[in-house]
Amino acid sequence: MSNEINQETKFSSSGLPLEVRYCKKCVESNQRFIGSVPHSDRKSSRKDTIIFDAEGVCSACRYFERKKNIDWEERERKLEALLDHYRRKDGYYDIVVPGSGGKDSCYTSHILKYKYGMNPLTVTWAPHMYTDIGWKNFQSWIHSGLDNVLFTPNGRVHQILTRLAFENLLHPFQPFVIGQYNLAPKVAIEKKIPLIIYGDYYPEKGIGKEIDFANNEMDQSLYSKKDIKDIFFGGVPLQELPKYGIEFKDLNPYLPVDHDLAREARLNVQYLPYYLNYDPQRAFYYAVEHTGFEVNPDGRTEGTYTKYQSLDDKVDGFHYYTWFIKTGRGRATEDAALEIRNEHIAREEAVALVRRFDGEFPKKYFKDFLQYIGITEERFCKIIDAFRPPHLWEKVNGEWKLRQQVS
Ligand SMILES: [Zn+2]
Repeated sequence: MSNEINQETKFSSSGLPLEVRYCKKCVESNQRFIGSVPHSDRKSSRKDTIIFDAEGVCSACRYFERKKNIDWEERERKLEALLDHYRRKDGYYDIVVPGSGGKDSCYTSHILKYKYGMNPLTVTWAPHMYTDIGWKNFQSWIHSGLDNVLFTPNGRVHQILTRLAFENLLHPFQPFVIGQYNLAPKVAIEKKIPLIIYGDYYPEKGIGKEIDFANNEMDQSLYSKKDIKDIFFGGVPLQELPKYGIEFKDLNPYLPVDHDLAREARLNVQYLPYYLNYDPQRAFYYAVEHTGFEVNPDGRTEGTYTKYQSLDDKVDGFHYYTWFIKTGRGRATEDAALEIRNEHIAREEAVALVRRFDGEFPKKYFKDFLQYIGITEERFCKIIDAFRPPHLWEKVNGEWKLRQQVS
């Protein structure tokens, strides 16, 4: 595959290619990042972007083409060998499955327990503010027959970090992402359960970059020893957080996993979609049938046309909206691109869905969100506008418009 990002490609200050291009097969643009969060504390690097080849097809679509040639029976045998290696006979837990009670974690934990005979402990980092449907799905999941550790961070600290991350990075989800990312390995170390299996998988949902997960140990960057002065939260260096009412002892849940403890624990981090051919619709139907999962009672979720993605947190909509502001592509783009790759919809239909729903303002929980982070509507708008990259946005007759849209 030829790599079209070359030395001539010009980038914006936040690391996005200045020339916007759309994939010929799906609706994704070249503004897609891993995690889609330029402006985060980890400096965005070019290798984290989606790659377009000489035919104008994105690396995620190419991953789905390769996926067709995967020998899934062979992969399932590998899964069984892995599980056999870690399976315990003394009744103790043998896997940690991180999740929120969304369709992917429901599917993963339930199938590992009830089809493959494992004894998973599910681990959840609580949302900022549960939605009614989110809490209901979480409860149904656990009541379907799984043990769970629910970790709820200090609400005052989490609120301050979320506000700082919104104001400084336009990334209100950053404290949640950091906390959730670190929680599963910490629980695995503490409870002496070395195998962690996630239900989602970056090549599947992200940019198509594959890693040899069959032999993967935990991402070394997670527990590399970090100097305290290299740690930032919400764009603020750790040592300056006392100015905002946060002490070092408040930050335990957000700090990186201890390097030595992680090495001693020999953590093995795996992703179920590497082993079992993943399809979001199939995971959804499985979760409905086995763990009582319910879709959004309002019908589709704001900013997209789907009914079953990220329903549990009142802040979710702002995560996708801020990402739309920074990259010009939002939740409908991601959902539609995935459905094209899974051959559920055609590109023409996807283009229409993106043009109709992408970037829709999440008004349902707007007041809750403003109240949660403690800012006014006026300040909210000012911050949003300050983060619109000039190569993506222009003001036409006093209104912000994307310079380009998928067609
Ligand atoms: Zn594509």
